[in-house]
Amino acid sequence: MKFPVFFHPLQKEHKPLYEWAFGKKLNHPETTKRIESILAALEASHNIFEFIVPEAISQELIHNVHDEKLTQLYLTAEEQLAKGKTFYPSVFPRSLISKKPSAKKLAHAGGFCFDSGTPLTSVTKKVAEWSVACANGAALLIENKKSPFAYSLCRPPGHHASHKSFGGYCYYNNAAIVASRWAGKSKVAIVDIDFHHGNGTQDIFYEDNRVLFISVHGHPLEFYPYFSGYEEEEGRGKGKGFTINIPLSEGIDGYEYLKIIDTLVIPALKKFDPKFLILSAGFDTYKEDPIGRFNLETDDFPEVAARFANLGLPTLILQEGGYSVEKLGVNVRSFLEGFKDNFKKIK
Ligand SMILES: [Zn+2]
Repeated sequence: MKFPVFFHPLQKEHKPLYEWAFGKKLNHPETTKRIESILAALEASHNIFEFIVPEAISQELIHNVHDEKLTQLYLTAEEQLAKGKTFYPSVFPRSLISKKPSAKKLAHAGGFCFDSGTPLTSVTKKVAEWSVACANGAALLIENKKSPFAYSLCRPPGHHASHKSFGGYCYYNNAAIVASRWAGKSKVAIVDIDFHHGNGTQDIFYEDNRVLFISVHGHPLEFYPYFSGYEEEEGRGKGKGFTINIPLSEGIDGYEYLKIIDTLVIPALKKFDPKFLILSAGFDTYKEDPIGRFNLETDDFPEVAARFANLGLPTLILQEGGYSVEKLGVNVRSFLEGFKDNFKKIK
């Protein structure tokens, strides 16, 4: 059986040109070259991977998780922005008590956003929907038992997007949209192994005991998204204990990282005993990544993947970050091959 890979060519139309970071205008790291790197690496192993174009999704699927106003804002961008133009929110309200933002005015976009690195364009809505469609297509394959695992090349990524807000290069939360649907029937675990804390996913399931969320990431005292991902955040209400944050210092190598996976992540997963596993797989943990500050090598990724494959759970692997364009494809392929080679039959 080949490894199913979901991707839609229209995802290439997403071209954020630059981002504002601490007053500087920087070339945007979330480029189409990331997709090209991954596709080239996986196509070179076409005897292992099978490419599948997903079907379109319904708006209802998105709105199970996200506020409809977020979609309205993307629609406003589609209608009001010329092709190739980007719009950056500038004003971010700390309180919405007196005035509510209008999703029909781009100047109000900061009311739905939390950073200045995630522009709106005329294609934002379309590309974000195809990214969700990839995740959903892969999820359907798994739940229909056509394959025990699948990889979705989600671009834009999703783990920073919350109910009512976008940011961190993310517009819709692909992992949360699938998990929310699966959680209606079975227990779901999401493990976020991107370098950055999955603040959006945490936010969405913070009071939910049907979804276990574990995030291993660079310490937020030093790294984006700064205001979440601390150890003491462990869920609220009936969700208390179902969020686990493992912030780590910069410079962690593969040996130390795997020890964390073995001693903290895998035991927590076994205790929760989920019926489905979603991996928010970011590769900005790689040693040469221009944004992340861990020291994982290419050879570490199949080892990380093997830990999750050994659980023998139906597993959806979603692409999140990873900005070392030259090595991203090789790292993704190593991870996926490591997963496939070590997958134990579903219990
Ligand atoms: Zn990241």
